[in-house]
Amino acid sequence: MIELRSDTFTLPSAAMRSAMATAPLGDDVYGEDPTVLRLERLAADRLGKAAACLMPSGTMANLAALMAHAPRGAKAIVGSESDIYLYEAAGATVCGGISYEPIRNLPDGTLPLASIAAAFPEDDEDPQFAPAAVICLENTQNRCGGVVLPDGYAAEVAALARTRGVAVHLDGARIFNAAVARGVPPAELAQHADTVQFCLSKGLAAPIGSMVAGDEATLLRVRRIRKMLGGGMRQAGVIAAAGILAIDEAAERLSTDHAHARLMAEGLAAIPGVTLDPPQTNSILLRVAGRDPEEVVRMAASAGVAVNTFGHGRIRAVIHCGVTTGDVHEAVSRLAKVITHSEPRLNGAGSPR
Ligand SMILES: *Cc1c(COP(=O)(O)O)cnc(C)c1O
Repeated sequence: MIELRSDTFTLPSAAMRSAMATAPLGDDVYGEDPTVLRLERLAADRLGKAAACLMPSGTMANLAALMAHAPRGAKAIVGSESDIYLYEAAGATVCGGISYEPIRNLPDGTLPLASIAAAFPEDDEDPQFAPAAVICLENTQNRCGGVVLPDGYAAEVAALARTRGVAVHLDGARIFNAAVARGVPPAELAQHADTVQFCLSKGLAAPIGSMVAGDEATLLRVRRIRKMLGGGMRQAGVIAAAGILAIDEAAERLSTDHAHARLMAEGLAAIPGVTLDPPQTNSILLRVAGRDPEEVVRMAASAGVAVNTFGHGRIRAVIHCGVTTGDVHEAVSRLAKVITHSEPRLNGAGSPR
């Protein structure tokens, strides 16, 4: 099976496994795991922040950051297509008493500044309104196709946030992909955010973990919330050892992934009926004219190519380090057979399940 459902399917490299086996360890809830401390220093430096904290997942990283910024009863302004809003089980509401104020994402991943401004209460002093406390951005924006937010956009959002006295949280699950695509250090993309989270466990290919980075005071709150949520881990250096290599190897790994994504997109675009935008990073979203995406996904799976439906009639293929150049060519040729050798589904005809 050529696995293209997600970059979460990446497996740790041999170097990661051996680093995990030999990492110096301690109790990280006591702050005494030297490998975790090394990873946290490295992540803070790469993101240009004073401090960072290892988290079990990106979901907990976003949740702890939101709870650190927003008191109970406050609002978080989020994208309607964001992971925080769609895929995190409403954790900020359940655990933090924070309500989501969703704003429709434009296709380039941004939230229009006027819509953000309109999400603030008309009168900050009026007790009937829930106050806004944090604006959340996502870079790369996953549901918009792994797109990189336009240059200068985060600075404009941060300026608005400052005038309104609220924080900016960046869900940078794939910020290293964004940085590689732009040819800038990740710190440059994180500089306008008060907190940023990124995933070690996606294209960076570590088995487990995410990082939250920000200033010292905010990170102290994040650490307390992490413990409260049950995310304090003991000899977590076992996973941190892989995380250190993940960060060190990121740029090389991800630029290969992006080249493979462009190669695959070129191949797919040549199949009759397929439309897609050229990928900016490692994610390809395609549409197949006149075909039920679920059926295409099922047929692709029986041809040995695992892809997903991705909402709005789209199919997604994600490139990661487990996908070779040969896999790219093979996947394109198998998908071409699936797409061209079957009859278009008639409107209204029931799908077989
Ligand atoms: C995967 C992802 C997350 C959540 O990370 P998990 O480790 O799966 O909890 C958050 N935001 C974005 C954009 C993601 O792609």
